[in-house]
Amino acid sequence: MSVVNSVALARVGRGDLCAGCGACAGRFPKMIEMQPAGDAWPRPKAIAFLTAAQDAELAGFCPGLGQSALPSEQPAHPLWGAFHDMRRAWATDADLRHRAASGGALSAVLGHLLSSGRVDAVIQSTAALPPDPAHANRTIVSTGVKDIAAAAGSRYAASSPLTGLTAWVADGRRFAFVGKPCDAAALRALALQDHGVARAFPVILSFFCAGVPSRRGNEALLRAMGAEPEHVTAFRYRGHGWPGQAVAQLADGSERVMGYHDSWGGVLSKHLQHRCKICADGTGTAADLSFGDPWETDAHGYPLFTDAPGQSLVVIRTALGAEVLAAAEQAGAVESTGYDVAGLVTIQPGQRNRRRTLLARLLALRLLGRPVPDYRGMTLLAAARQERPLTLLKAFLGMARRAWRGAGRDKARTET
Ligand SMILES: Cc1cc2nc3c(=O)[nH]c(=O)nc-3n(C[C@H](O)[C@H](O)[C@H](O)COP(=O)(O)OP(=O)(O)OC[C@H]3O[C@@H](n4cnc5c(N)ncnc54)[C@H](O)[C@@H]3O)c2cc1C
Repeated sequence: MSVVNSVALARVGRGDLCAGCGACAGRFPKMIEMQPAGDAWPRPKAIAFLTAAQDAELAGFCPGLGQSALPSEQPAHPLWGAFHDMRRAWATDADLRHRAASGGALSAVLGHLLSSGRVDAVIQSTAALPPDPAHANRTIVSTGVKDIAAAAGSRYAASSPLTGLTAWVADGRRFAFVGKPCDAAALRALALQDHGVARAFPVILSFFCAGVPSRRGNEALLRAMGAEPEHVTAFRYRGHGWPGQAVAQLADGSERVMGYHDSWGGVLSKHLQHRCKICADGTGTAADLSFGDPWETDAHGYPLFTDAPGQSLVVIRTALGAEVLAAAEQAGAVESTGYDVAGLVTIQPGQRNRRRTLLARLLALRLLGRPVPDYRGMTLLAAARQERPLTLLKAFLGMARRAWRGAGRDKARTET
């Protein structure tokens, strides 16, 4: 078997396509490792040669290189992918519902999976420990409902939750996995080709994701809140209300606070990695269940970000997802009501616009010779057809201009 340097990772690096999921390092732990974030995002570094077969395998599951729609009997919605149903849901545990990002339905489902014995543990992300900064993430293996509740909440920072993959598959336990849509896509692709992975991860959960801000972006947020990053001892992005506020606790015992609209819309959303800007799956199409915000809207139909009792939007992607949600509801962990899918297009403008303009932006990159992910069955043409031609042209020209100038290339490049 020939030994080659990784062609797949080289392409990821050339196109700045890494999502940071850590699946490559998790699958080939002695050959690839994730390098710390620096001032941007964690990136893989090849520390030994991959065989040609390993490199081909990597190309098959790396979400930076592509994603194929999950086979489904349900029709694929142009914006939201294939789904069985969407529901508005919340945790029945009032404390969890309050602490969580939206309505805590995701954590409540995880808690039910654990307490019912369907899985032995949960792979999820939570706040990093010192010496890492308080805004950073770390991956944890939760074995108790209390651990899951403590990790509730959205963290708008890089996470690489698949880095421990090989060890977890060898471990013999069954895990529920929670990750960004790109993390879920990588794990699903691996599970479809490897029974061991499928056995170890019987349930995959995800959430809507507008993109991952850099470490630099998080530091900019803290400064905008009036806190020097090195003085921050704890940080949450939202939660404790819906959507709640970004809250930084400082070493002197004081707090700095900023509303969701200003922290996400005003700062963090301006620091997203390139791969997120060309993402075809912001809504977790590879998961069994995916969760988002079913925002209330104003008279013009625009999302309201005023605090209210939390609610999670649950997208049921698979028959297993339907069964898991029904079981969690029957056990009293979650309550849900119907959701009118037609409203989603208005309350998720970021997801809607990215999907509709994606084909134009991918085309611009291709024409300039930049590598792009190979998306299959992701209904990009149907999404583009919903957009005005002038908007598509602007998206095309904007991406072409940024690519021409080299913008969008982060400094933490993938090393091969
Ligand atoms: C980066 C990011 C972008 C998002 N963008 C959108 C969006 O555009 N539209 C939208 O409707 N919703 C978005 N969400 C999802 C939303 O914030 C809620 O997570 C979702 O509604 C579920 O809420 P919940 O209360 O049910 O989840 P919770 O019960 O609070 O559980 C959240 C779970 O997510 C895990 N988690 C948190 N942060 C990360 C992370 N960085 N990486 C991996 N796992 C993590 C936690 O471990 C926990 O298990 C985003 C979340 C993140 C982290």
